[in-house]
Amino acid sequence: MKLLIVGGVAGGASAAARSRRLSEGAEIVVFERGPDVSFANCGLPYYVGGEIAERDKLLVTTPQQLRTRFNLDVRTRTSVEGIDRAAKKVRVRDLTSGREYEETYDKLLLAPGAAPLRPPLPGIDSPGIFTLRNLQDVDRIKERVDRGVRQAVLLGGGFISLELAENLVRRGVATTVVEKNDQILTPFDREMTTPIAGHLAAKGVTLLLGQTAEGFEETHDGLVVVLKSGQRLPAQLVVVGVGVRPENELAVDAGLEVGPRGGIRVNDRLQTSDPDIYAVGDAIEVTDFVTGDPAQVPLAGPANRQGRIAADNIFGRDTAYRGTQGTAIVGFFDRTAAITGSSEKSLRRADLPFRKVYVHPTHHAGYYPGAEPMTLKVLFHPETGKLLGAQAVGGAGVDKRIDVLAVAIQAGMTVFDLEEMELAYAPQYGSAKDPINMAGFVAGGLLRGEHPQVDVEAVLAAPAAGRPFLLDVRTAQEFASGHIPEAVNIPVDDLRSRLGELPRDRKIAAYCQVGQRGYLATRILQQAGFSAANIGGGYKTYKLLHLSA
Ligand code: FAD
Repeated sequence: MKLLIVGGVAGGASAAARSRRLSEGAEIVVFERGPDVSFANCGLPYYVGGEIAERDKLLVTTPQQLRTRFNLDVRTRTSVEGIDRAAKKVRVRDLTSGREYEETYDKLLLAPGAAPLRPPLPGIDSPGIFTLRNLQDVDRIKERVDRGVRQAVLLGGGFISLELAENLVRRGVATTVVEKNDQILTPFDREMTTPIAGHLAAKGVTLLLGQTAEGFEETHDGLVVVLKSGQRLPAQLVVVGVGVRPENELAVDAGLEVGPRGGIRVNDRLQTSDPDIYAVGDAIEVTDFVTGDPAQVPLAGPANRQGRIAADNIFGRDTAYRGTQGTAIVGFFDRTAAITGSSEKSLRRADLPFRKVYVHPTHHAGYYPGAEPMTLKVLFHPETGKLLGAQAVGGAGVDKRIDVLAVAIQAGMTVFDLEEMELAYAPQYGSAKDPINMAGFVAGGLLRGEHPQVDVEAVLAAPAAGRPFLLDVRTAQEFASGHIPEAVNIPVDDLRSRLGELPRDRKIAAYCQVGQRGYLATRILQQAGFSAANIGGGYKTYKLLHLSA
């Protein structure tokens, strides 16, 4: 068996190593256009900030190590330029010598990744404007920062921009993030990003939402980024992080099928429309694990797993790829946002039915020092309770909850399973009722009809005549420091003695800070004959939904 692999980083290197473990006899050639293989793309922003101090640490392995340990024929600075499917050979160019040659294959694996988008704006090729994909890019950016950058503009408010923003702030650079949407981190629902947006501002990052760059002008001091709004942002460094496009040229030229967004089409064995050609990683179109729809999800975990699975199939093991859930996490200083499965907006786009709950617990027992608040949003099927997606934002413990929920989604679990989950607990790690259990209790109660709940958006969107009576059951002090307009305050502890103040001919929507006292109030009201529901996630959710950034 002669296997050729195009691309020697996440997907390609995983596939190569797995292939060798499965077959000592195979001839395996890895072509990599750049000088490095298997480097840590995900660590690049932290090298700019100095958190990762040594460049060598970014090299997970070297071509020489791959040759020695895995007996791989690794050819760096070598580009595959074309595929002749009929003759089963590829055209190769050695980028150092310029020599062109052909190489035959039995099986070919494409792992060429995705290239950063570089919108064709006037001045985009000016010095000082970069994209970030590999070690050469990070060397250029770091060299620029080391020479002295006072102001940086990051175009795009995605994962990489946020990570870079943190690292530039650490280096004392005044940083502006320009994002064309009305939110950062577009895979998330907007309200879940507002705490991170607030934290960006708290750390001195200027966030310009709903803005786009129109062009760049060179000045004596560097650059000016000109926005469509007319605003002009001086900068000595600009990093464009507005998304990626699959590197599909080889596949397209060879007549392989690609999806509407350019991803190479594969089956669940990661085989392209040519059975002798496999493809993995950022370059492929995947199936969304939750919706079953085609999707483009450029993440390292899926690329690595796909590399293994493709190798399995190439070497005769029948292994299926289950689809991509889009489990992702990003940190900005001490705040974390994480997501798995579908978001509310993607479910709406796909016109799929769902319900949602928000809980706002602390990451471990509140009485133990250092408890940090988090917001957890869980989306589930309105009848079966099957988990569809989850997002969390906060500090410590966000990663653990999203990982638990990622496994639950993968296992096809429901919100009722979350109620039963037995998770590790000691006060410094969690709670006897973990945030996961709490989300399960709220969602399970809601589906069983024990816990009538309304979404705050629905309450506020109702026409004035039909709008429920808004009852704030927090303390007078909490009420005074902010409340939903038109709400009336009766603290939950006084409620039983003040029922006479409430209307019997209107539905009552009760709320507290996070949902718990509102739930208790709802139970009191229902048993006293009122028609009442709790506003899910309480005032904290209302605030998330109504913050401007
Ligand atoms: P790549 O790793 O990009 O490898 C493809 C390789 O193929 C490239 O080196 C390219 O030079 C080579 N190649 C392309 N065409 C040819 C050709 N014709 N001939 C020869 N070689 C070719 N993901 C996460 O999940 N978590 C993170 O925290 C995270 N952080 C990131 C931070 C940064 C700065 C970047 C850039 C990415 C990050 N990612 C992260 C995304 C993750 O790195 C990618 O999803 C993953 O590397 C994709 O793997 P791949 O094998 O498909 O492509």
